[in-house]
Amino acid sequence: MENSSRVYIYDTTLRDGAQTQGVDFSAADKARIARELDRIGIDYVEGGWPGANPTDDSFFASPPPFKRSRLTAFGMTRRAGRSADNDPGLGALLTTPARVVTMVGKSWDFQVTVALGIELDENIRMVADSVRHALTKVEEVMFDAEHFFDGYKANPTYALAAAKAAYEAGARWVVLCDTNGGTLPHEMERIVGEVIKGGIPGSHLGVHCHNDSDTAVANSLAAVKAGVRQVQGTLNGLGERCGNANLVSIIPNLMLKMGFDTGIAVEDLKNLLSVSRALDEVLDRHPSRGQPYVGASAFAHKGGLHVSAVAKDPKCYEHVDPTAVGNMRHIVVSDQAGRSNMVARMTEIGVDLDAVKRDALVAVVEQMQVTFDPREVTDLVDLVKRLEHEGYAYDQATASFELLVRRALGEVPDYFRLERYRVIDERRRSAIGEWITLSEATVKVEVDGKEYMEVGEGTGPVHAFDVALRKVLTTVYPVLTALELKDYRVRITESTVGTSAKTRVTIESEDGKGHRWTTVGVHTNVLEASLEALQDSITFMLFRYRDL
Ligand SMILES: [Zn+2]
Repeated sequence: MENSSRVYIYDTTLRDGAQTQGVDFSAADKARIARELDRIGIDYVEGGWPGANPTDDSFFASPPPFKRSRLTAFGMTRRAGRSADNDPGLGALLTTPARVVTMVGKSWDFQVTVALGIELDENIRMVADSVRHALTKVEEVMFDAEHFFDGYKANPTYALAAAKAAYEAGARWVVLCDTNGGTLPHEMERIVGEVIKGGIPGSHLGVHCHNDSDTAVANSLAAVKAGVRQVQGTLNGLGERCGNANLVSIIPNLMLKMGFDTGIAVEDLKNLLSVSRALDEVLDRHPSRGQPYVGASAFAHKGGLHVSAVAKDPKCYEHVDPTAVGNMRHIVVSDQAGRSNMVARMTEIGVDLDAVKRDALVAVVEQMQVTFDPREVTDLVDLVKRLEHEGYAYDQATASFELLVRRALGEVPDYFRLERYRVIDERRRSAIGEWITLSEATVKVEVDGKEYMEVGEGTGPVHAFDVALRKVLTTVYPVLTALELKDYRVRITESTVGTSAKTRVTIESEDGKGHRWTTVGVHTNVLEASLEALQDSITFMLFRYRDL
């Protein structure tokens, strides 16, 4: 029996998402993303378009083994004036290991007569023949009705006839596509309702939305509300132009708010964030901080008033529990924030503010290069405010913040002590007359009372310093071999004073297992600021892995 609260999820990241400008998946990239989709339990994973390019062919030649997802191949209905069993494109589509195929075809009369230049009836026959033929070769067939909503607005009778031809020929799903992304939620709901009344049950209808009106997620939900039971989309809304409907938002909306069963277990929904990040990783993109549900800022609280309310009950400023999708609450520390933010953040780290001794604070500040007198600092909150005034920004640099707090509590050992360093920059012409810039750094470091000296070469001074420092430290702390610097940002914090202005360097690092942290350094000298952020990054990793 049909379960009316079950909505099937169809991912097209590997096909429609791959159409995006600047995206060029290798077959290995595709396999990696496909495994992630299978891990979380997506019903259908569209691998690509067999016969369209060598990458898709090689992906379908040896697709990753799925535990839960059904591999789906995408292609076109037969061409005009050919029989379905004598169409090479259709042949290629039906001979891959995929037991499910999705065929795209026209449903807008204007597209049929202008783009294809054929009779309206022949298009209907193309749809029906292709579905019938495909069903003799594979287990499950879907029809993507391209431009369905524009077609329906122009000629509802014809658009419905094309969709029904596929349904009556045996298509498991007829997928209504908002190919140009111009439809709005209220139109979506009305048109889907009319299609169901017109004879295709919602249990056999899907929807495929593009985000050109910034409503792809809303449209998909409106279509489900109107009765469709399959939703197509991509991870993080990847897709050409403004993207496809974002499954990373649609799935929790369906499960947590609309009460639908997506086939994804509540436990697996907790992997949503890591699946979303896996795509960013493949694309070498920075995760979007503001992305709903999974962004770093999605559950971040900065305003003092918000934070004190969240501390009482998170529901005050959170629409769902962040852990449901694998995210976490994040109390932002900044000079805009009240004391309650900082106290909440410190409690989250697990420290008792009252346990911090004045002498310890002074000792911590003395290690830093600041312009104020360490003895003037009254408590930890006061120290953070003073440091932010100096140019430190702990909003994002949560690792530096944690280290600062833990240092004040005396919890962070001196893993290493930089005694001195020297950096030499050189620019010269190579033997063939090209400019070369080279940096060489010498560092002297003390670890556990022993002194080490190393030389490193790099493309710039920070790189050379990093190479030299890590030469020393990885021999003592092998865990650091996995440390990767992911991002390096430089900002001038006082624009009025020209080159003597303070520079803030923010470094994002990763441990090779997907965990990232951000550290900050401030100095009038950009190299000094970089070294401070770099040393914090290394210390943070050593502190995190102290028990290993
Ligand atoms: Zn599309």
